[in-house]
Amino acid sequence: MAGAKKTDAYKAFFLGPKAENEAWVRAEFQAVLEHWFQWRKHLFPDDQPVSTLAERRAPAYLMAREAMTQGLDELKEMLTDEVPKYTPRYIGHMVSELSLPALLGHFAILLHNPNNTSRDAARVGSRIETEVIAMLAEMLGYDPDRAHGHITGGGTVANFEAVWRARFRQDHWLSLALYIAEIHKVRLDLFDAAHMGWARFRQLVKDYNVPVDNLRGFSAVASNPYGFGERMNAAFGIAYRGPVMLVPENKHFSWTKATNIFGFGEESFWPVALDAMGKLDVASLQDRLNEARACNRPVTMVVSVAGTTETGEIDPIDQVQGILNAAHNRHGWDIWHHVDAAYGGFLCSLLRGRSPSNVLSVSSMAALSTLTDVHSITIDPHKLGYVPYSCGALLTRDAETYAVSGFKAPYLERRLDVPDKWSTTLEGSRSAAGAAATWLTGKTLGFHADGLGAVIAETIKACRDVRTHLAEALPDVRFFSPADTNILCFSLARAGDGLKAANAATEALFERFVACPDFSVSKTTLGLKSHDKVIQRHVGSYRGRLDDDRLVLIRMVFMNPFWADQKVRETLTEELVRFLGETAEPHSLAS
Ligand SMILES: *Cc1c(COP(=O)(O)O)cnc(C)c1O
Repeated sequence: MAGAKKTDAYKAFFLGPKAENEAWVRAEFQAVLEHWFQWRKHLFPDDQPVSTLAERRAPAYLMAREAMTQGLDELKEMLTDEVPKYTPRYIGHMVSELSLPALLGHFAILLHNPNNTSRDAARVGSRIETEVIAMLAEMLGYDPDRAHGHITGGGTVANFEAVWRARFRQDHWLSLALYIAEIHKVRLDLFDAAHMGWARFRQLVKDYNVPVDNLRGFSAVASNPYGFGERMNAAFGIAYRGPVMLVPENKHFSWTKATNIFGFGEESFWPVALDAMGKLDVASLQDRLNEARACNRPVTMVVSVAGTTETGEIDPIDQVQGILNAAHNRHGWDIWHHVDAAYGGFLCSLLRGRSPSNVLSVSSMAALSTLTDVHSITIDPHKLGYVPYSCGALLTRDAETYAVSGFKAPYLERRLDVPDKWSTTLEGSRSAAGAAATWLTGKTLGFHADGLGAVIAETIKACRDVRTHLAEALPDVRFFSPADTNILCFSLARAGDGLKAANAATEALFERFVACPDFSVSKTTLGLKSHDKVIQRHVGSYRGRLDDDRLVLIRMVFMNPFWADQKVRETLTEELVRFLGETAEPHSLAS
């Protein structure tokens, strides 16, 4: 990037809304294909071609080609109708233009089709995965030499991977508690035992001379969960009801799926309330922890979110970690803290490098800086990494938190230094394409404030800029603050309006957006039950009445890099103001 202004990264690293970088991109794709052809030609030089020129001119051969050409034409024709997500006019969901290194990396490795499930099928693919996990670890603040992780099909699977590990760990600790209770007739404090930490686990194993292999027979996961429950009742003299997960109400629905899939039961999903900013309320988290202790429910994991799916807020991850650290200091509890940074993880690139960006708020920076200390992190390169689908990642801070096996013999026993991933991933076969796309992005654009961070910083500025202009021109547009990132949400309401009328007006505006070909936006609806304080604050900001149990918001995701361009920004902001001015008169819409 020598010579180029860092804020211009979006011009060099993306194709451009009018395919401005076409000539160079065409040549690079051509070069990738050329390399692929030559690779075949030069490997096994004595092997013979399978077809001759004469054969390739035979009618059946030509017909096959014609069929492929026609099929491809049909596909291309269909793709003309695909949602144009490259354009800055697309501000609908968490997807936009792909970066060029991501596209080229994805395409180049696709031609070799490595399967990262095993080194046997991915000599280079698995090496790239190891390297890219280290790059992401460094960006997130983990020690890249100690961190572990792998690429997943997306954030949902990455979240499941974290639950799988947290449950595995807690299952070991509970198995040991049950073993000691049944065999030695010693009752440990159940809640203490459920969060004992590996050091205490090893000490107890030594003190009671426990053959660790035998713990399989005392495990809810490796034996039978119902039988385990009955034995816990008998051994501890309680009605054991199983573990819980503490997840903020602003969560992604993948967390509800997780309680389902892992057999916790949905009752074990304990929501943590939100504060008036729509973020995890630490007082509520403390209450939930006390409650879990009071009724002997092990806490498998505490989740906080960096970049909520609906509105892009960043939870006070530092304060959550502070509560867990205090619990550790006071009681010795090691409670798993997972951060769902599927969307916001790449904001950490703003904190790295020679000249960290200052567009983030102090509280956002404090939250993101704490990722260093948490047990595990989900991050989605296919969101703010500008990488093609499907590419998520799970990272853990060290090998111990990455482990999913430990009891010896047949039960998933693989040593961690064995490079094959199949036994430590929920998915089996895994493409290396996402790893290569992310790898090339990190190598070229860079996961720091002068690279990807500069691109993302500009999208946050664009989001704020649009907000300022809309606020000046349209008093009835009610922004749903605080907008930590590049997502802008608002409703339509006149001062004093009831929420019902405001929702109707916002819904009507959304319908106009749907009918308007010039912009793609999305809509989100927040329930009063989960978002009571923040909805009250929002409605209070225009002295409205709370006569509905939900809040409808227009949602705009400003992650498209081309909003950094002054002309694009001015033109499109003006168009947005005009469109909203023409159609956003609340009462004309609601009636
Ligand atoms: C997008 C998202 C997910 C799910 O990720 P997928 O890649 O869609 O599976 C989970 N959590 C948060 C906060 C997200 O934004």
